[in-house]
Amino acid sequence: MRATLMYAAGDVRVVDVPEPIIEEATDAIIRVTYACVCGSDLHPYHDLGDTPEGRHMGHEAIGVVEQIGDAVATLAIGDTVIVPFAWSDGTCTYCRDGITTSCVHGGFFDAAPSATQAEKLRIPYADGTAVAIPAGTDEALMPSLLTLSDVYLTGYHAAIRGGVEAGKTVAVIGDGAVGLSAVLAAKQLGAEKIILMGRHTARTDLGREFGATDVVAERGEEGVAKVLALTGGEGAHVVLEAVGHMPAYEQAYGIVRPGGVISRVGVPQYENAAVGFMSLFGKNATLTGGPATVRAYLEAAIPQVIDGTINPGKVFDRELPLEEIAEAYRLMDSREALKVLIRP
Ligand SMILES: [Zn+2]
Repeated sequence: MRATLMYAAGDVRVVDVPEPIIEEATDAIIRVTYACVCGSDLHPYHDLGDTPEGRHMGHEAIGVVEQIGDAVATLAIGDTVIVPFAWSDGTCTYCRDGITTSCVHGGFFDAAPSATQAEKLRIPYADGTAVAIPAGTDEALMPSLLTLSDVYLTGYHAAIRGGVEAGKTVAVIGDGAVGLSAVLAAKQLGAEKIILMGRHTARTDLGREFGATDVVAERGEEGVAKVLALTGGEGAHVVLEAVGHMPAYEQAYGIVRPGGVISRVGVPQYENAAVGFMSLFGKNATLTGGPATVRAYLEAAIPQVIDGTINPGKVFDRELPLEEIAEAYRLMDSREALKVLIRP
């Protein structure tokens, strides 16, 4: 089959690899019908060292079940399923707590030999991991349903961990697809004021459509001052940080209101960060966030897409066939595209 492998920074190729097979009785194999490139795929695109064997890429997918292991009970051949970016058994102590990305049998498709930017995918713990989409669902909804693999529900996770609720003032740092998803999620959860920090007008316009009440293009000290001015000098109850670089974290503690919460879903590209008096301690601020527990939110989100309550698929502004995925990486890296849908 054809699959996307990365061999070094900037070197993405579609090559022939062996088809995945059922390895465990709990596995399923799907034919991938929709995949995409994630903002986090751009991290190795920038800094992957020489990898002669190639790194399999992709962790977001919708597909049709082609084979199931003997122990798979909830899926049937022919089902169309959504696959979260992490697999999980659905039964361990962390899964029962909803922290599915810490599943004792879990893992991330990114690091797996079977990844989603390919024609087929092996899904470990298929019962715990994949969720079937109701038969007969309109094909036009598939891009929005695909965002439930990662990007929309990652924004939603940020908002949930941050405690976004009716009446709260929320600031979102980052106008990438996750940041815009966080805006949409904050709106769903009833936030009163949603300040989006981003400087790309086409993106912040979509942010306004998703529910942002204010847009702040400034960064650094100026950005902090602007958010404080918009909040009567108080800051935001909840800051959703969807970037992952140190300046975004510094911005977050600059604009969080005393007693407020910073919720991070941008994968931190730093190991050490300030927590002292001038950052978190002095404000009694809470720092939370982590890998999104997408699987825990998936069943509730599917009907919201189907009934039109949310339309997160608007983050896709381009579509390319799998064979042209290298161009998708280039378009997203150069910010010519917000998020590219891939059709294997
Ligand atoms: Zn588990």
